[in-house]
Amino acid sequence: MDRIKKTYSAFIILYVSIFYLLIFLFRTKHSYLTNISDTLQTLSSIITLVILWKTCKKSNSLRKRFWAIILIGCTSYLMSQLTWDYNEIILGIYTPNSIYVAIFWSITGLSYVFAAFYITYEKKNTDWLFTLILDILTIMCLFIAVALFYILTPVMERMSIYSLFLAIEYTVYPVGDLVCLFVTFSLFLSLTDDSEKCYLALISLAFFILSISNLFYSYLCITKNYSTGNLIDPLWSLATLIIGLAGIEYTNLIHTKKISKKTKNNNTINLVSIAPILSVISLFILAIVQQNNIITTFFEVSIILIMIKHIFIILQNTKLILKLQELNENLESKVLARTKALSHIAFNDQLTGLANRRFFETTLKNSIQFSKDKNKSFALLFLDLDSFKSINDTLGHYSGDIVLKEVSKRLKECLTLDCFISRQGGDEFAIIASNIDTRDKVKELSQEILHSLSEPILLNNHNLYVTCSIGISMYPADGITFDELMKHADSAMYCSKACGKNTYEFYNSSIDALISKKSAIKHKLHSAITNNEFVIYYQPQYDVLTNEIIGAEALIRWSHPTDGIIPPSDFIPIAEESGLIDTLGKWILKSACSQVKKWQDKGLKSFKIGVNVSPHQFKQKSFVSDICNILRDTNLSPKYLDLEITETVGIENTSNAITKIHILKKLGVKISIDDFGTGYSSLSYLTKIPADTLKIDKSFIQNINNDSTSKTIVSSIIAVGKNLNLEVIAEGVETKEQLEFLKSQDCIQIQGYLFSKPIPTDEFEKLLERTSTKSK
Ligand code: C2E
Ligand code: CA
Ligand code: CA
Repeated sequence: MDRIKKTYSAFIILYVSIFYLLIFLFRTKHSYLTNISDTLQTLSSIITLVILWKTCKKSNSLRKRFWAIILIGCTSYLMSQLTWDYNEIILGIYTPNSIYVAIFWSITGLSYVFAAFYITYEKKNTDWLFTLILDILTIMCLFIAVALFYILTPVMERMSIYSLFLAIEYTVYPVGDLVCLFVTFSLFLSLTDDSEKCYLALISLAFFILSISNLFYSYLCITKNYSTGNLIDPLWSLATLIIGLAGIEYTNLIHTKKISKKTKNNNTINLVSIAPILSVISLFILAIVQQNNIITTFFEVSIILIMIKHIFIILQNTKLILKLQELNENLESKVLARTKALSHIAFNDQLTGLANRRFFETTLKNSIQFSKDKNKSFALLFLDLDSFKSINDTLGHYSGDIVLKEVSKRLKECLTLDCFISRQGGDEFAIIASNIDTRDKVKELSQEILHSLSEPILLNNHNLYVTCSIGISMYPADGITFDELMKHADSAMYCSKACGKNTYEFYNSSIDALISKKSAIKHKLHSAITNNEFVIYYQPQYDVLTNEIIGAEALIRWSHPTDGIIPPSDFIPIAEESGLIDTLGKWILKSACSQVKKWQDKGLKSFKIGVNVSPHQFKQKSFVSDICNILRDTNLSPKYLDLEITETVGIENTSNAITKIHILKKLGVKISIDDFGTGYSSLSYLTKIPADTLKIDKSFIQNINNDSTSKTIVSSIIAVGKNLNLEVIAEGVETKEQLEFLKSQDCIQIQGYLFSKPIPTDEFEKLLERTSTKSK
């Protein structure tokens, strides 16, 4: 494209040079000169027209109209040229100043001015354009006054009345040209920093050359020195061809750059803004000097125009101020909203939208102060989700977040406005229940919370059951300071966890005793292993059809020298928390296996020994190899070892867990799913875990006779076991009614107090001896 531009520029120079050369060569041969000049001028118009036509076609929609207006101007110029040619060459009229030529030329001039207005209007605004028009009119006052006074009047005096047309043409046209030129320049100049400035400048240049040529032409006509072939003729061609160059420049631009509609809204057009004032001053001076009516009238008109402009500017400024005020108000409301949002971030939990710990602290302190002043009481509830860690570990943090959000939503829904809910972090929430003065009301509230969480949460098309443990402290009964209330609610919450979770607990002084017991246990647990304080009790499992012992569950007891027998529920969770369960677990496994082997070696009945495996223990990388080592060391056949795992063991880190279970199964070890029905496992989970036995949780068995749901659950578990080819054992069987129901459902493996409690080794040995002799 750049090459085309260069070639065309060279062509213009060549064209104009040849034009001048021909004028010089044929300066004496008038008729040749007329033909050559007219032809070359017409030819240049045609060339430009062709270029503009192409430009118009190629131009983007933004500039299509602009180029169309320029094209109209050029077409009109060609028309005026052709009319001229027709008059001069065909008709042979020497004065070719026909009215048509004048009309066509006027259209050309106006087209360029219009195009300039159009492009600036597109980029600026109407208000700006209006003031510009007023400025132009003011300047025109000076031009017209000068033209009328200094040119037209003398010419009119010299010429006869019938040549009025000529008089106007010779005077008004050049003035009009100058005005048009001024307008075009001002408009294009106003487009500061514009990407389109280059081709607009070329159009301005062409227009400038045209106007100057016209001025000379008028002068030559008045002085009767013009004839076709004059030295100014090539200038017209030059101007026309430059418009063509502008077209090429534009096409070049749309190929290389993107033309932006926007421009720097720089309204300071020095030339345009100073010129009207200069015009008025000039008119004022002229009016004083010349004392002429025409000049005075135009001076007055220009003053009126200036006044209109200023009134308009004042109105515009008022509008701008209003707009500014509006913007300011907008900005202020935005700042306010931003400040609100920031304070929301500072005092609220991002995930749940609940108040955060910071906000909670101030609110609790305020509540204490308020209740103190008004002699009122309130409740502080500490709420902790049960097994949330396993949800996070198993299903990922994203799912954990969904659970937290859902829990927050339900809390908001079930609590009244009197309650202040906050998230303390993790899965802990704290609620300040103001205006609640009795324990019964707090009980109701806690039950409502537990109830609202009892509905399953739908997560990835699975129903997830989430429960929580609540600890409650009351102001002022359980504490009158922030720290006291917090500490006591926390202790109560811990207590409700210890009481089996999914429940609430009020603070009382015995809780402190419980907690100190816990820390004492934690302390003593370490030495208990080395001091051999643990013993294993065995609870037999029976086949109720044959009444034979088919297995036993090894259950640990802590025989403390001073505290006596401590049940596993008191120390297993602590051992799990502290990680001590791994050592303890290995010890149990080894002791149980070696004991069973001893009984076998004594010739007593062989049976499988159920050993509980804690989730923490199962997760250990060495778990499988530990089992192998124990079986090898004790020389017990793997088929006699029955590992009791809970559903959570399989759910946490599923693929890894399943691999471990598969290896153990290959070894020949049996797998039982303990407490079946209480976890959140699905049936699909059962098909993945190659278990041998389902142990129905004792909570269902114990409710068989007073709760139809438990009955249904038990029958369903038995049916599922049968369908999946799994053995089913019922534990916690205490009554004959329970046994009868289980028998009626074809569940024949039973463990429970009805047959025997867990008993020490020697007692169990005696039991075995009794049954062995019986069967013999
Ligand atoms: P579990 O695995 O469900 O064990 C069965 C529990 O039910 C035992 O309680 C047992 O004494 C009790 N039980 C058996 N039959 C009846 C009955 O007819 N009625 C009632 N009310 N209870 C019955 P225990 O021994 O107190 O153990 C409690 C829990 O402690 C166990 O529940 C188990 O989760 C854990 N545990 C016990 N020993 C061990 C162990 O060696 N290792 C691990 N990791 N956990 C153990
Ligand atoms: Ca068990
Ligand atoms: Ca169990």
